[in-house]
Amino acid sequence: MSHKSLHPATIAVSAGRPAPEPGAPLNAPVVLSSTYVSTGTPRPDQMLYTRWDTETWQPFEQAVAQLEGSDRAGLVYSSGMAAIAAVLSLVPDGGVIVVPRHAYHATLILAHELAEKHGVTVRTVDVADTARVIEAVDGASLVWIESPTNPMLEVADLPAIGAATRAAGAIFAVDNTFATPLLQRPLDSGANIVVHSATKYLAGHSDVVLGIAVTRDPVLHEKLWHYRTHHGAIAGPWEVWLALRGLRTLALRVERAQANAAELADRLSAHPKVIEVRHPSLVDDPGHAVAKATMNGFGSVIGLRPSGGAAGADRLIDALKLWLPATSLGGVESTLERRRRFDSESATVPEDFIRMSVGIEEIEDLWADLDQALRAL
Ligand SMILES: *Cc1c(COP(=O)(O)O)cnc(C)c1O
Repeated sequence: MSHKSLHPATIAVSAGRPAPEPGAPLNAPVVLSSTYVSTGTPRPDQMLYTRWDTETWQPFEQAVAQLEGSDRAGLVYSSGMAAIAAVLSLVPDGGVIVVPRHAYHATLILAHELAEKHGVTVRTVDVADTARVIEAVDGASLVWIESPTNPMLEVADLPAIGAATRAAGAIFAVDNTFATPLLQRPLDSGANIVVHSATKYLAGHSDVVLGIAVTRDPVLHEKLWHYRTHHGAIAGPWEVWLALRGLRTLALRVERAQANAAELADRLSAHPKVIEVRHPSLVDDPGHAVAKATMNGFGSVIGLRPSGGAAGADRLIDALKLWLPATSLGGVESTLERRRRFDSESATVPEDFIRMSVGIEEIEDLWADLDQALRAL
């Protein structure tokens, strides 16, 4: 059966395995070797040196590419930021880049560094304002979209932006970390490149830092490979193996976590100690209509503003017993943090805004913990 006919949940389990021959291992092996035996003119079908390529990366690169709908294997990087830096390196000096006003803060730091050091013009947009994004695409070299955005959960109309970006001849790159390929496939909406912090949902267990970029375009693939190889932004073999192991359960984790998130968002909205809840599943959420029209689900990150301002948010987090106070997201365990505790977070993110990453625990335990902490405010 070709992978094209398989459903994403099946691809996550079956892609990237060794051929099922008698005596073959079911799982991809980890090869720990920095170099390979070779003589004479290098052959493209033979491994040479592990910074260039290694069979330990390939199963994960194939699996994520298939999930994203690409026949061309992805490129794994040492972190999500390494993959993002590789994509941003495609912007020429003096070029124009479109970025979300709210996006992963380190991505915005790199974009502004391009402005300072390479004369790049940075156009900042609200990704949910489709008309404004389409206007900003004109003359751009690269349109960088994150959706839903981190941490404000604005939802972009990827098909509309994809069509406009293609027409304008810009490179369209999407950070798909929050949605995962199960909830949206940006390449099918006209994106040229899709990037993940595999640290989050793809690996899913908060025990590995890793990134990946996927493109169908051979020229872009070559450039992203060049960046990875010559900047040395390469992943270790164990990290990639762990990420592939985590990927096998992606569908189960996403399904459970987003069901938990939608139910919690609903209950939180009705709580007297809550000022605002952001989750695209809520019918009155600004991102609901676009998410419903363009995504296969609403994801499992919630934005919460409890009563009592920033101090109230901090007290809430301290009063929780099961939810873990930590940065990052996308693991099996529920975590949360007040984003403005970081100076680097955008000043337009409210001071009391808590980003919650909902895990796969039993919903009633998660709710009971939240409810007792909210009541104590
Ligand atoms: C975490 C994150 C990144 C950065 O990934 P690292 O693996 O930490 O380098 C990029 N984009 C988004 C949306 C993220 O959540």
